[in-house]
Amino acid sequence: MQTRFLITLFVGLFLISCSTVPLTGRKQLNMIPSNEMMSMSYQQYSEFLKENPPVRHTNESKMVKSVGNNIQQAVETYLTNNHLSEMLEGYAWEFNLVDDKLVNAWCMPGGKVVVYTGILDVTQTETGLAVVMGHEVAHAIAEHGNERLSQEMLRTAGNLGLMVALKDQPAETQALWMTVYGVGTEVGGILPYSRLHETEADHLGLIFMAMAGYNPEESVDFWSRMAANSSGQAPPEFLSTHPTHQTRISNLNKWMPEAKKYYTGKKGNKTNKNSGGNKKGGSKSDGGSGNKVIKIGG
Ligand SMILES: [Zn+2]
Repeated sequence: MQTRFLITLFVGLFLISCSTVPLTGRKQLNMIPSNEMMSMSYQQYSEFLKENPPVRHTNESKMVKSVGNNIQQAVETYLTNNHLSEMLEGYAWEFNLVDDKLVNAWCMPGGKVVVYTGILDVTQTETGLAVVMGHEVAHAIAEHGNERLSQEMLRTAGNLGLMVALKDQPAETQALWMTVYGVGTEVGGILPYSRLHETEADHLGLIFMAMAGYNPEESVDFWSRMAANSSGQAPPEFLSTHPTHQTRISNLNKWMPEAKKYYTGKKGNKTNKNSGGNKKGGSKSDGGSGNKVIKIGG
């Protein structure tokens, strides 16, 4: 009897927890209620910032906030225009720069972003930073954290009990969370995003940066610099499961025409689809297009 109840509950959970990633249309299984994801996220994020006080009032920290805000605005506008604004319920965006040599950045559910100063040597320009920010925001919008945590629950629990008990067992959920988002703990213990998630974040990120007024073609330059940098330490988010450099560049070029439909060159753009009026003609082979002067508050 109990088994039947659990199966019914499981099927129910499964049905209500299938969702669709915007733009890519991929179906995913997210079993954790998003308010629960966010409350865990916000708690972990503030604990992280307590231990790693963010850089404030520097040109770099302001740039992290302004690029983040531009991308946030563009994505919000896009989702609102496409009647998907309920996806953003409970989001509390934050874009913080943390002083650390790690060449890395990450985003927790609900839009909690951290960029490390180490990656700024690779981003080099505001547009380079927009590539990273677009990628991170994409992980949040596509709810990769929830999907990853759900997969991890299914993998480690192996029984329905944990899922059913989820609400009453915050400790278990917390432990799994740390496996997925073990920010600040040993790198080895963290479950990296899958290659599928990374590729999807690249795809959405390219579109998001374009929507926000950043030339998507510069993503190719950024990822080339990133590949050149990868001989050093390899933090989990940025390198371990990422597609090979060649695959990534060929993917970016494949998605470029789609991304350019959203590109108007206006920062923090209110998403005019296909307006295309302000395109700059930088070609893909022109590797030197990344020399824009960094401007704050664009
Ligand atoms: Zn990623």
